[in-house]
Amino acid sequence: MTVYSGPVFEMAANQFNVIANYLEIPMDERDRLLMPKRAVTVSCPIHRDDGTTAVFEGYRVQHHLTLGPTKGGTRFAPTVDIGEVAALAIWMSWKCALAGLPYGGAKGGVNVDLSKISRRELEALSRRYMQEMIPFVGPHTDVMAPDMGTNEQVMAWFMDTYSMYQGQTVTEIVTGKPVSSGGTLGRREATGRGVAHLAKRVMKELSINLSGSTAVVQGFGNVGSYAALDLHHFGLKVIAVSDHTGALFDERGLDIPALMRHAATHGSIAGFSNQLQFDPAQILTLPCEVLVPAALERVIDAGVAEKLRCRVLAEGANGPTTPDADLVLEKRQDEVFLIPDILCNSGGVVVSYFEWVQDLQQLFWEEEEVTRREYQILDRAFDQMLVRARADKVPHRTAAMAIGVEKVRAAKNTRGLFP
Ligand code: GLU
Repeated sequence: MTVYSGPVFEMAANQFNVIANYLEIPMDERDRLLMPKRAVTVSCPIHRDDGTTAVFEGYRVQHHLTLGPTKGGTRFAPTVDIGEVAALAIWMSWKCALAGLPYGGAKGGVNVDLSKISRRELEALSRRYMQEMIPFVGPHTDVMAPDMGTNEQVMAWFMDTYSMYQGQTVTEIVTGKPVSSGGTLGRREATGRGVAHLAKRVMKELSINLSGSTAVVQGFGNVGSYAALDLHHFGLKVIAVSDHTGALFDERGLDIPALMRHAATHGSIAGFSNQLQFDPAQILTLPCEVLVPAALERVIDAGVAEKLRCRVLAEGANGPTTPDADLVLEKRQDEVFLIPDILCNSGGVVVSYFEWVQDLQQLFWEEEEVTRREYQILDRAFDQMLVRARADKVPHRTAAMAIGVEKVRAAKNTRGLFP
């Protein structure tokens, strides 16, 4: 029992134990690798529009500081708790290490229902959360970014709040900022773009034609929408899409650019079409070439895994597949090609790294360079995962996580234990 105990943390711990067994890591070394270095809980009081005061609980978990600053997003959602944030921070560590970034993992969050607060209240909450975190973050300590429920505007408020306290503009304190405030070209698209790029690579490996193939995307936020857009541009038919308001299905392929314009103005896919409405509970088990879960964690359990009818499972979300489901997928390896989350959605943090580098150097790159370098890192990590999985006959998730865990372990062991 730890302060993090809960279903999402248990899942991250179970996954880690699978890797630790495979790598034969001694028992007394495991907690040092798994347990977060720091966790901060803060109360964020704000004035509501009606004049009352409300307090929101906020968290930040920094998993390890061995390779450099910690890095990771901030989630605003009503389900957020310290255990979920810790699990997400741990996944960030393996993700950054697999991609070869000089970071440990972190994640933050505020427990808030965004449908119940106004834009002014959101700004107050974002600023207060960052203000409470100032003693614990910094461009060389912990660098925040967007995650579920946060966006470029929230990052601009975070950066502005931190900068006002420093008395100077410190763009490198957060990534995922608007390009007008020190952000990089290509960050907004980066995560979804990476998901689609890797899905395309796998389709080539499997000799599946892009044109006429079908894709299904669960979640139409930043990750799902840009993944859908690129798959659409590659010639796939995106036959179904869902978000928290419902789902749409069209066997001829949805008009993704039009759906993105609709979601940008209305905040969701609701109201796009009455004829195309579909049961969101069935979206994951539709037959398709590419399935992209890009919403919440733990949506694919063992039961769903048995029923998956996709050829490629491209995990856009963090932790969408439970360890029980992994056991099912292990048996179905020849039917379903898994691109595990810590590889599949790592384009986001890779381009966040580029943003941080550009901010530190005050030297900005063309979008073409950002995307070319993003694909280069994703392709290298993909190759490493595949070589390892084939050589050791282990599932893709095991191979990807093992590469990440090994890098963190090597750094910890060579640095030694202080004092
Ligand atoms: N929140 C994203 C993730 O889970 C991005 C993190 C970042 O850019 O630092 O990978």
